Amino acid sequence: MVHVAIVGGYGSAGVAVADELIDRADEDPERDLELTLIDDGEPGGGLCILRGCMPSKDVLSAAQHRYQVRHDDRLEGVPEVVPERVVEQKDDHVLGFAQHRRDHVHELAERENVEFVHDTAEFVDDRVLEVGDRTLEPDYVVIATGSVVDVPDLPGIEDVPFSTSADVLDATEFPDSAIVMGFGYIGLELVPYLSEIGGVDVTVIEHDEHPLDEFEPEYGETVLELYREHFDVEILTETDEKRLEAIGSGDDQSNRDRNATATASDGVRLHVDRDGTEETLEAEELYLFTGRRPNVDGLGLENTRLEVEEGWVGSTMQARDDERVFVVGDVNGREPILHVAKEQGFAAGRNVLRHDRGHDLEAYANVPHHVIFSGLGVYPFARIGHTPATVSASDMDTIVVSSEASSEGVFKSKNHSEGRATLVVNAEDGSVLGYQGLHLHADVMAKTMQLAVEMALDVRKIPDRAYHPTTPEIIDSLLRAAEVELEERSE
Ligand SMILES: Cc1cc2nc3c(=O)[nH]c(=O)nc-3n(C[C@H](O)[C@H](O)[C@H](O)COP(=O)(O)OP(=O)(O)OC[C@H]3O[C@@H](n4cnc5c(N)ncnc54)[C@H](O)[C@@H]3O)c2cc1C
Repeated sequence: MVHVAIVGGYGSAGVAVADELIDRADEDPERDLELTLIDDGEPGGGLCILRGCMPSKDVLSAAQHRYQVRHDDRLEGVPEVVPERVVEQKDDHVLGFAQHRRDHVHELAERENVEFVHDTAEFVDDRVLEVGDRTLEPDYVVIATGSVVDVPDLPGIEDVPFSTSADVLDATEFPDSAIVMGFGYIGLELVPYLSEIGGVDVTVIEHDEHPLDEFEPEYGETVLELYREHFDVEILTETDEKRLEAIGSGDDQSNRDRNATATASDGVRLHVDRDGTEETLEAEELYLFTGRRPNVDGLGLENTRLEVEEGWVGSTMQARDDERVFVVGDVNGREPILHVAKEQGFAAGRNVLRHDRGHDLEAYANVPHHVIFSGLGVYPFARIGHTPATVSASDMDTIVVSSEASSEGVFKSKNHSEGRATLVVNAEDGSVLGYQGLHLHADVMAKTMQLAVEMALDVRKIPDRAYHPTTPEIIDSLLRAAEVELEERSE
């Protein structure tokens, strides 16, 4: 009998581990499995369902409709959004999804040798967990505890109140003005929401020349243009935060000692360095969209041999410091997105069983597949596989072609001619290596392009006749441009 405990059993990664272990045990009657799922979520359901992927897209959809009406000169008036109803509908959906997740976990726990414990787990020794008044000593522990907001280590941060993505999803009232720190995918999704639904006067601090800096500069420049012109957001590029203080605190020590709640109504002051010059910004509220870090707080890892640092979890999901501990999902810090959390969970489930049988473990690797619902999801950014930058770092001979949405009639007809797309193709055999797009429906095209990349389809064999007029015609343009280049090279 092998006993596996999963800490984070309601989360996406934890459930995936459990499903995989149970499926494998069902397939092999010789396998004796004891499984303990532990989660202290209240209500349980995991980040994606409760405060991540699903609720964010739910509230964005209301803002998206408002923006599309406001952006259309042929229509008169701007619809009034009722934030209470936005939040109510989101809660209704999300609580339903969470119930479904919990029901699934509880059904698993009805099986023989599977139990669910609704409590907090803490390591008291290597692979020894204290859960409520019980002590468990399983053969394997899978850590699937997710992530928490990464609060930057900035002078003064402990003296000012701040809001996070979770607060935005529940907000029915908004400040007049706000400073936003962090312009990764969470910032790109929520900044236009604050401006569209909340009417907030937003100033974003961007450290680089533009966001999306891993990609061709045109993508980041398109975001800057859209956010400034369509959403009236101020974005200070090449700007670094230096110091924060609560407005009203000045140099007065008694004020400085006031707690965050007491200063909430006074607002925040942020000192920044803009191209070598110090500037001061003030706003009613500070939003931190500064990313997330592994949730290991209170997990008692100091009582184990595990050290949470770069490389602490390998590609097999096995912890570097303990071969009987596996770490999946956001908590391992490898690639904190939902589908990856799940795939890592399946991989870890298989590897636990392989390890138990003394077999070699298998690494988990994937083709990058990311979507950011920028521009309220009207102008989503999608990335599959290679980018021009990643192929240039390889020794592959490649072709890179791009197309502007404004040059495709269909985007004009649908009133969203902003954005662009890029295709990366292997010049040797014509196979598709990568796609990036930031334009209307790029999120939907991500699936088609995932097939093209993962099946290494030859651009010359992919039909380039989308139904006319539909937005995938931008993909046809890329395919044709790549074909022409391939032909020219072969002449
Ligand atoms: C605003 C926002 C939007 C997002 N949008 C997207 C998106 O559109 N697409 C996408 O792919 N990803 C998105 N993500 C990321 C995605 O939500 C996460 O990658 C994913 O949910 C991580 O799943 P997980 O299983 O690792 O962690 P979680 O789902 O957080 O699960 C961790 C579980 O561990 C439990 N737990 C923690 N500590 C303990 C303990 N000590 N004892 C017992 N139980 C414990 C928790 O209760 C929780 O149930 C978004 C995230 C945010 C914040």
